[in-house]
Amino acid sequence: QARAAGRNQWVWYSNEMASHLQSKREMVQAIEVALGSEAFSLHYQPRYQLQNGQLAGAEALIRWQVAEDKWISPDRFIPLAEENGLINAISDWVLMRACTDARDWGDQRYVSVNISPVEFRGSDLVQRVARALEASGLPATRLELEITENITFEHPDRALEIMQGLRALGVRLTVDDFGTGYAALGYLKTFPFNGLKIDRSWMKEFPESPQAQSVVAGIVGLARAFALTITAEGIETEAQLNELKVLSCEEGQGYFLGRPMPLAAFRALLNQQDV
Ligand code: C2E
Ligand code: MG
Ligand code: MG
Ligand code: MG
Repeated sequence: QARAAGRNQWVWYSNEMASHLQSKREMVQAIEVALGSEAFSLHYQPRYQLQNGQLAGAEALIRWQVAEDKWISPDRFIPLAEENGLINAISDWVLMRACTDARDWGDQRYVSVNISPVEFRGSDLVQRVARALEASGLPATRLELEITENITFEHPDRALEIMQGLRALGVRLTVDDFGTGYAALGYLKTFPFNGLKIDRSWMKEFPESPQAQSVVAGIVGLARAFALTITAEGIETEAQLNELKVLSCEEGQGYFLGRPMPLAAFRALLNQQDV
């Protein structure tokens, strides 16, 4: 019985639970406030063409500042936003900001935005993306959407339809964090992806470990079989960069090449490249 378990223990448990719920609810409310204020911002992490060193574009990564020296990681609040539908409002904000920021990055450079798999349940993602493109004036071909692989779609038919709609707009679709979830060959065959990003966990022991070598080479080969552009994420060393070039990996990003940075810093990088 709950009582028999001891009064203290029960009180402890119920307090824990209450404070958990409260902080969750508080965070949800805080997200709503943040959306209406200047609390969210985007950082951009450069993505390079590995064979010629050209700056290909950037990935937009959301940042949430809750105090002067306090930031909440997207790994903490995105899952919460996914649970209660706030993710759509967050994505709308990210899409609009990113598309507007990327307008003058040059004719070829793209911005990539992370879209949550739960957004493939509803019906309006295509319209939402179209609206951001129209309002910002960014050509659709310069927007890429990254969809993480580690959650399976609840309604695969619906997800497929939405992806086809996005492709019809001219937007590129990429599998993010490939190699961490359940997705396998069938996933790549079913959905109309243009690119694949190898999850950075595979980069950790690469290139020293023969196993990591084989896995990365295998994923590159797999991507090629499906005619997907391949991007390595989490490149932290020169040795990794060199070995990825040998494997003919097309694009890469990571701390060795460039950290996520505010727009102004990314613009400075663009100017350097153009000289
Ligand atoms: P992700 O899309 O896989 O993004 C890559 C993450 O790895 C970023 O973390 C980035 O800062 C980090 N990273 C980049 N290069 C390196 C490296 O060389 N070494 C290491 N150790 N890490 C590296 P971040 O910005 O904390 O984002 C975490 C995750 O949160 C993202 O993973 C993405 O799934 C999600 N996220 C971020 N922004 C958004 C957003 O606007 N919308 C949605 N739905 N999700 C977002
Ligand atoms: Mg990503
Ligand atoms: Mg990733
Ligand atoms: Mg991720």
